[in-house]
Amino acid sequence: MFIKRLVFLVLITTLAITAAAQSIDKTVRIDPVKSGENPFVYVPFEVPSGTASITVTVEYDKSKNRLDFGLFDQTSTGSNDDKRGYRGWSAYVRDTFFVARDDASNGYQSGPIAGGTWRLIVGRAQIATGGADLRLKIEFNLKESDARTRLDFERSKKFDFAADSFVPGAPVKSAGFNWYRGDLHVHTFHSDGYWSVGASLESAKSNGLDFVAVTDHNTFSHHAELDSLAKNFPQLLIIRGEEVTTYGGHINVWGLPPGGWVDFRLIPGLAASGQSIMRETRSFGGLASVNHPTMACGGCSWTYDDDWSTLDSVEIWNASWDPDDEAALKIWDGFLQQGRKITAIGSSDTHQPPSEPAPYPINRRVGDPSVFIGAKSLKMSELFAGIRAGRAWIAENPRYSLKFTAGEATIGATLSIKPVDLALQLSNFPAESRFDLISDGKVIATDPVGSGTLRKIRFAPAKQSYVRVEVRSKDGAMLAMTNPIYFK
Ligand SMILES: [Zn+2]
Ligand SMILES: [Zn+2]
Repeated sequence: MFIKRLVFLVLITTLAITAAAQSIDKTVRIDPVKSGENPFVYVPFEVPSGTASITVTVEYDKSKNRLDFGLFDQTSTGSNDDKRGYRGWSAYVRDTFFVARDDASNGYQSGPIAGGTWRLIVGRAQIATGGADLRLKIEFNLKESDARTRLDFERSKKFDFAADSFVPGAPVKSAGFNWYRGDLHVHTFHSDGYWSVGASLESAKSNGLDFVAVTDHNTFSHHAELDSLAKNFPQLLIIRGEEVTTYGGHINVWGLPPGGWVDFRLIPGLAASGQSIMRETRSFGGLASVNHPTMACGGCSWTYDDDWSTLDSVEIWNASWDPDDEAALKIWDGFLQQGRKITAIGSSDTHQPPSEPAPYPINRRVGDPSVFIGAKSLKMSELFAGIRAGRAWIAENPRYSLKFTAGEATIGATLSIKPVDLALQLSNFPAESRFDLISDGKVIATDPVGSGTLRKIRFAPAKQSYVRVEVRSKDGAMLAMTNPIYFK
């Protein structure tokens, strides 16, 4: 009896010490992902009532493993089907992060901290055979921490990127549309980017863009800043986005409602998983687009279907034109030759300004490359209609200008199979660059861009086909490419 009482007392004492110290230390074994298994697991922990802030610190052997992290509050059940209570995501970027009533690390949402069972979500990006030991320290009501210091640094960081600002004229008009320039893929401090939200918008403005979507990985925590800064950028259409970052491909979703997010907890390779993104995106009238389908990094290339047909468009051009883009272009052209219509887009995927030293490889201005979308007006719904219709072309930067028409019709249109006069006008390209007209995988006309005078070319399709334009530098690098005009 005495022994039992002693054990009880020791137990009570231990709990009391833990409560006084307001922290939890524990080690959790994270197993490798079995074939067909969902790669996300949850680590529950109890939050005392009356808590004002939670700081999570993670530690594991990074030489053999890569884990991603996010947080669900007490309203979640810890099921992959339950979206409730999501408080944000920091992936592998932060080893320590906090959520408080009135503030949070970038990537996370501040708000009430109710007592109960919260859950750390762990993404098993890469686990050594035999598993990984995840050491967790969870602290409550901590005033100072590395996470707070990091946030202060990110908030006070000054940027200098506007050295060569570009002031465009009014958008090019052709075939009854205005061709608005923009960038649909940008990362900030809210995920693995090194832009403040404000600086990314300044870059878009200084590069002469009409629209921009900020698409941080698996989070919505950048939305509030986008919305509050919008008043400072009256000329810029700002779109709330998310890069839905799964281990079987990345998908950009545009047009989210404030605080909205699309679920990333998918099983790589499962077609139904890709389709669930589309369903969720449709539910709020947004658009979803395959990102960098051929990029060789863990989980970056597309696995949810073989023909990219699940989503609205595909990012053929990601950041600087490279062999991955060339490979994506080849696959895309193959689909066009099969008579399929998939809108190609391009985006910077910028993670930090060009002026920054390079902890991350994508240092680009917002808008290098730019996507030009033919739309009736600068409204999100009109831009989305333009993308759905294939009314888009891509350029290395927003300074280039291009008009491509077939009679009264333009890029994205479908015409009947009969001879037509194509007209191509290229402006601001280097004179020694070349343009190619491509139909059914073959170059049907090619010429130096020269002074950029209007070219008229008679095209007589014999069957269902398409014609599209590429402009390349004398070294073969892509300077611009269009979606096709189709013949059916
Ligand atoms: Zn990506
Ligand atoms: Zn990205």
